[in-house]
Amino acid sequence: MPLVLRYAKIVISSVVRRMSVSVLGAEADLFRALAHPFRLQLLELLREEEACVCHLSAYFDKPQPYVSKHLAELRDAGLVVDRRDGQRVYYRLSDPSLGAVLDDVRTATRRLGASPDEETERLVPRYPVPGCECPRCAVA
Ligand SMILES: [Zn+2]
Repeated sequence: MPLVLRYAKIVISSVVRRMSVSVLGAEADLFRALAHPFRLQLLELLREEEACVCHLSAYFDKPQPYVSKHLAELRDAGLVVDRRDGQRVYYRLSDPSLGAVLDDVRTATRRLGASPDEETERLVPRYPVPGCECPRCAVA
């Protein structure tokens, strides 16, 4: 093989290798962001509709700083986006197809032996949530 072709092959395989590492790194980041039961619960609820921090705090009966911390991790990973409306910040999935990812993970864990229970079933929005003062709970 001519030297120039050999060099081109080395350069191309090096580029491909770097792309693979970059894609794998991005996939690892995604799994890191998913790797907390509460963040999975947040994503499950947000796949149904957007919700503000105070609603999520009341819904899960968790302190707002705790909820905000996990939402920030999901936002930093690009899994949720936020929208400010006055004093409130609303969150939703950045891409509806993330719901399919959650379904696939659930299917995989069941195949690995996890049995379904009430807590792991899909979370559904409900209004009003006691103690929540968000606009939706206020009118419900
Ligand atoms: Zn509410």
